[in-house]
Amino acid sequence: MIINKLIIETRNLDFSFHQGIPILRDINLQVPAGSIYGFLGPNGAGKTTTLRLLLGLIKQEESSIQIFGQDFWPNRIAVLSRIGSLIEQPSLYAHLSGSENLEVFRLSYGSDKKRIGEVLDIVGLSSAKEKKAREYSLGMKQRLAIAIALLHQPDLLILDEPTNGLDPNGIVEIRELLRKLNQEHSITILISSHLLSEVEKIATHLGIINQGKLIFQGTQAELQQFKTAALTLSAEVNDLPKATALIKNSFVIKQVDRQLLISIQNKEQVAEIAQIWVKNQIDIYQLALLKSDLEDLFIQIINA
Ligand code: ATP
Repeated sequence: MIINKLIIETRNLDFSFHQGIPILRDINLQVPAGSIYGFLGPNGAGKTTTLRLLLGLIKQEESSIQIFGQDFWPNRIAVLSRIGSLIEQPSLYAHLSGSENLEVFRLSYGSDKKRIGEVLDIVGLSSAKEKKAREYSLGMKQRLAIAIALLHQPDLLILDEPTNGLDPNGIVEIRELLRKLNQEHSITILISSHLLSEVEKIATHLGIINQGKLIFQGTQAELQQFKTAALTLSAEVNDLPKATALIKNSFVIKQVDRQLLISIQNKEQVAEIAQIWVKNQIDIYQLALLKSDLEDLFIQIINA
């Protein structure tokens, strides 16, 4: 993976809530400047814990986190002033309108008054700004929460499952908003999700965490290679040496007992191998794609 400048870099980040029960192990997150980084993993994998550590919401003073090229903990005030975030449910004032909600946060951030109009425009809520937040749909609430996160003009947005619970329209709106923030406002975005389908349409880079370990990090194209390289075909045939000889120049093959285990890139290669064998009078008793832990993981994070 070609990485220019990294906005977030963790080095062997470990974390446990209780001694002896590791939640995160050796996480080397690398979020490039200008990227939309999709942080994927099944429920309980450690996504929220990682994001909370990146925001200092969980205290960890060891300097294994660098953001904007600075050690996070000693520089956290300066670093956080450049980050907008949305972790867990947005805390909005239901009885206040969209622009009043923004005004409350603007006062605490000390941002310019005209910034309210700008962020309402960016998230597409200008026409609903006088409505009470309690009358907003979940998608609108989420966009208002993102508007609040944008008030202080951050360079980096960290969003924990921002499309959770949204209907398909709401999901598309958030996706388009994030794309716009990234492309037109040059904001680097780290977004977590438990579904590949929710981030693959916008993410330039992906990290996959499972049971507290980062098991993949790279571009979409690299993910494709990683997924397919994980396929193994097991074959039972009548003539093992002949069957092996016929395909050994194109595939990596291992013999285990009376079985051949063949590393393949895609399912089309199953048909290719079967055709070669049938043409050469090999009797095939069984062909099966082996399930690996990785495949189970992909089934969990790929939209069912
Ligand atoms: P989800 O989408 O379900 O929130 P996640 O990938 O964000 O999943 P985390 O919330 O980071 O996962 O949780 C990772 C592990 O840490 C889980 O086993 C969870 O039970 C545990 N955990 C989270 N918060 C705490 C806490 N405050 N104290 C103890 N254990 C915790």
